[in-house]
Amino acid sequence: MPVAVNFGLREELMKVVPTLSLCYQCGTCSTNCPITDDSFNIRLIIKKSQLGAVDPRDFKVIWDCVTCGTCQSLCPTGVEITNVIEMLRTLAVKSKVFPTKINEILWKIYENQNPWGYTATDKRRFLAQFGNLINNENPDVLIYPCCLSIGDPRVTRHIKALIRILTKAGLKVGMYTGLTCCGDIISHTGNKAFYEEYTTKVRDALMQYKAPIIVTLSPHCEYSLKRYVKGVRVVHYVELLKELIDSGKLKLDGKKVDVKVTYHDPCYLAKHQGVIEEPRQIIRSIPGVKLIEMEHSGKRALCCGAGGGGIALETRVSTELSKRRLKEALDTGASIMLTACTYCFRMFEDANKVMRTNIKIMDLAEFIDSVLGD
Ligand code: SF4
Ligand code: SF4
Repeated sequence: MPVAVNFGLREELMKVVPTLSLCYQCGTCSTNCPITDDSFNIRLIIKKSQLGAVDPRDFKVIWDCVTCGTCQSLCPTGVEITNVIEMLRTLAVKSKVFPTKINEILWKIYENQNPWGYTATDKRRFLAQFGNLINNENPDVLIYPCCLSIGDPRVTRHIKALIRILTKAGLKVGMYTGLTCCGDIISHTGNKAFYEEYTTKVRDALMQYKAPIIVTLSPHCEYSLKRYVKGVRVVHYVELLKELIDSGKLKLDGKKVDVKVTYHDPCYLAKHQGVIEEPRQIIRSIPGVKLIEMEHSGKRALCCGAGGGGIALETRVSTELSKRRLKEALDTGASIMLTACTYCFRMFEDANKVMRTNIKIMDLAEFIDSVLGD
């Protein structure tokens, strides 16, 4: 079907994402995209973006993209596809074509600084559990908890596990008590002005702690904070633990555990930031642990369905993706599915409840803590 080229829009898109011009329509992106089907085709969306020919029908479907980054990490010419998606979402919002749930999410963030509706009372209750565990007087590292943790005791366990591990490695551990969302979800809703205003406040609050390192449990928080927090090292805990193991400050070779595990690569750690080998090296260094890979891993790993705002928007694809990935984990025969992302953990826990399987979902921090013991 012929499309009308819009040179003005083409210029606008090319200015923000210059790599868009490098697409030669090879189709690698759509072949590997976990959601490309009759209604959403990423190769076609890139072609239409190159021509400035995107229309309201495209604006409707781009919200299904989970921004997993599989497409761009495999693109032979390096087209920044998720940046194109983000730009299209901004244009869609301007054209008033967006899921109505976005209004609700943004309002919750505006009111309570998180998209889940957790209140000041919820935050106080959450923080009361950490009184003796953290020290915010000149900490060596500052933990940035994902705001999803506030009302979820399972994720709270992961934070406590990480605190114990870092303390064992000789670090003074602090924690960001502002408990604000990192802004990841705002960036996916296409509201640039609100994103700028909001993230400036979060950055100023974080700087008050004067910690040289901010460590996150969620790769989404890490990716998001790195965009606007400058002059402080922001790192995901997997990378920090690998460094502590390499420098001999953290030892995992004490206790032998006889268990088969599989590891799910969080998209924002593996595809967006290239952290693929580090978690595997950590897992393999634990005596008795056998790591079995799933059919898709590393840059080709299937997404859990949470990214791109999917966890909050609850799009048509998000729960289907988590079930498809859990099935791959089951096929390995492992008894534990490890991951290193708050969103992934939640998606697989929910899928596990629906599918009623015997596999245990664990965050890598909790697994390491269980191996270290008391
Ligand atoms: S993989 Fe890259 S070059 Fe190939 S169609 Fe997709 S965007 Fe274009
Ligand atoms: S980011 Fe993931 S879901 Fe979105 S187009 Fe690329 S591969 Fe598909």
